[in-house]
Amino acid sequence: MVFRSKGAAVAAAAAVALGAGAWAWSARSGSAPAFDRRADQNVLLVTIDTLRADALGSYGGPARTPNLDALAARGTRFDFAHAHAVLTRPSHASILTGLYPYEHGVRDHSGYRMKPGTPTVATMLKRSGFATGAFVGGVPLERRFGLDEGFDVYDDRFGRTGNASDFTMAERPAGEVVEVALKWIGAQQGRWFAWVHVFDPHAPYTPPPPFDTEYAGRAYYGEVAYVDSALGPLFKAAGSAARPTVVVVTADHGEGLGDHGELTHGLLAYETTLRVPLIIGRLTPDTTHDVGRVSHFPARHVDIVPTLLDAVSADVPSTLHGRSLLPGAPLPPDGDVSSYFEAMSAMLNRGWAPLQGALSGHEKYIDLPTPELYDLAEDPREETNLVDRRADRRRVLEARLQDFHAAPPGERFTESPEMAARLQALGYTSGSAPRKTKYTEDDDPKNLMALDQWIQQGIEAWQHGRHDEALQIYRRIIDRRPSMAIGYRNLAFLQWQNGQARDAIRTLERAFRAGAVEPAMTTQLGSYLADAGRPADAIALLEPLVAVEHPDPDAVNALGIAYARANQPERAAAAFKRALDDNPANVQALENIGTLEMQRGDLPAAQRALEQAAAIDPRSARAHNGLGVIAMKTGRPDEAFTQWKRAVELSPNDFDALFNLSMELDAAGRHEEARPYLERFTREAPPAQYAPDIARARRLLQR
Ligand SMILES: [Zn+2]
Repeated sequence: MVFRSKGAAVAAAAAVALGAGAWAWSARSGSAPAFDRRADQNVLLVTIDTLRADALGSYGGPARTPNLDALAARGTRFDFAHAHAVLTRPSHASILTGLYPYEHGVRDHSGYRMKPGTPTVATMLKRSGFATGAFVGGVPLERRFGLDEGFDVYDDRFGRTGNASDFTMAERPAGEVVEVALKWIGAQQGRWFAWVHVFDPHAPYTPPPPFDTEYAGRAYYGEVAYVDSALGPLFKAAGSAARPTVVVVTADHGEGLGDHGELTHGLLAYETTLRVPLIIGRLTPDTTHDVGRVSHFPARHVDIVPTLLDAVSADVPSTLHGRSLLPGAPLPPDGDVSSYFEAMSAMLNRGWAPLQGALSGHEKYIDLPTPELYDLAEDPREETNLVDRRADRRRVLEARLQDFHAAPPGERFTESPEMAARLQALGYTSGSAPRKTKYTEDDDPKNLMALDQWIQQGIEAWQHGRHDEALQIYRRIIDRRPSMAIGYRNLAFLQWQNGQARDAIRTLERAFRAGAVEPAMTTQLGSYLADAGRPADAIALLEPLVAVEHPDPDAVNALGIAYARANQPERAAAAFKRALDDNPANVQALENIGTLEMQRGDLPAAQRALEQAAAIDPRSARAHNGLGVIAMKTGRPDEAFTQWKRAVELSPNDFDALFNLSMELDAAGRHEEARPYLERFTREAPPAQYAPDIARARRLLQR
């Protein structure tokens, strides 16, 4: 994913040392205490996003994680557990269904949702009489992507969605997720299954106090420590419930933190991102029989569904690949266990080679133009590629990978023949990065990580106000790899933010001509066209995009804006309403309704929508700006100034609010108060968009 930001890479923690001899001991040792399998207990699944196994205290990591460590001390901690994908949605789909990505169909974030009707562990437990609730913390898991199958309640309220101008994703802090989960759990009379997903360790790394100062300079670990503290009340409540609670904690994937040249995750599949923590235990008020164990068995995400079903004595569908990991369950020798993994994002979005691989026992094979083979028992950091030295092992692992018969990713759901036809009519070709029949070393992701670092550097330069440098970096990326969509997408975005609307549109048109396009770029182009006075073109582009069952809410909002610009307020209102029907917490839809109603002169309706937006997302600068305009129009200047000051403080780039504030303060005779805002406006507002306003502000300052 691209939306990451700030914080430079944190130095990686030392991987947990695994002596070769350590493999001898495993969960199947005969002395393992039996797990009390019975139907009358609750089930709690906790997924911590972007959590490297070696970050946790119990795994020898630098983050202080007493709650998770206590859980590990009571249950089984797996120190060789793996995901099947290195992105949030594909990986969670595997955790919840027990299926590999090529089976559940979620191969990337952009353009993939779970096949409707795919049974999840919630479906199965619901059938056994459990109440089912999901509480998720980050936007990749919004309900519309289909992971809500089987849940009575799917709580995905994050406030603002989509990418803001600072390249971050919508999320809500772990504390808030836990709070809504606890409320739901507290209301249950019978047995329940709760899935709690917390997003905090995902970039940007911005832990709240006191973790920000305690982990200064290594903020990633501060996020991990914060998450642990936020989960404390959840484990406490589950542990004191009338029934015992079976609990499984894992991560969807880890984080590169600079190892192997990867800062975040999603492009490569080294142990830094593929290996995950996995803790299985049982929470009861009585802790006398607890014996903490460490298992070196090759555990996989596909084993989680069978494990949870086994714990409550429910039938495990024979179609699942996984097996129960509970103590006492029969386990094969490590060498007989294999696992599939992939990283498709780089192929789908950037035109790089697809990454697939297999684990067999403690060996790992990565199938790329330059293939890689590691013996993880001896080389857990993957420093020595054995592919040329152990031809026999290579053949064995290649065969294991082939045994999965993993199909390549299907088409993205946003691509329809009608869409393609519309794009062609407008002179564009549609689609994702073109797939090649043969990928070479030049397409191997590990050889292209410098480009990924440039992408990060561009974002960082932008965030620190070095706009020209950021634009230059993205031009360089396009020159170096013209087939890569993200170069155009980010360049266009920054040009747009800089007030260079035409340049932004030209950049996107270049991308379409080069066939270097991601689905979101059609929405991006549509919204720029609407804003740049070409609403008819925007409507032609966006209408087919929303003529699907689960449209991208950004596309629906962009289409509404295009209608509004084309003087079709009824259609605009209908579009915003649709976005709101799909997600009542869609802040952008509420902001847009506020703007539309203001244009139509219905100030009370505008006020209602904007107040709702500000209630859901108190950090909405647009809502505060709009509320300021209404206050001024209805004769409440002091309230207007308060609202605008808030907007300017929340979003230093909201030049509309800054302009309103400085002009109206000045007009009210409060010249001294207006001066710093006027100065800031003349200094920072992009001339391409605000030239006449800047001139006006200058005149006021010279007076
Ligand atoms: Zn994730």
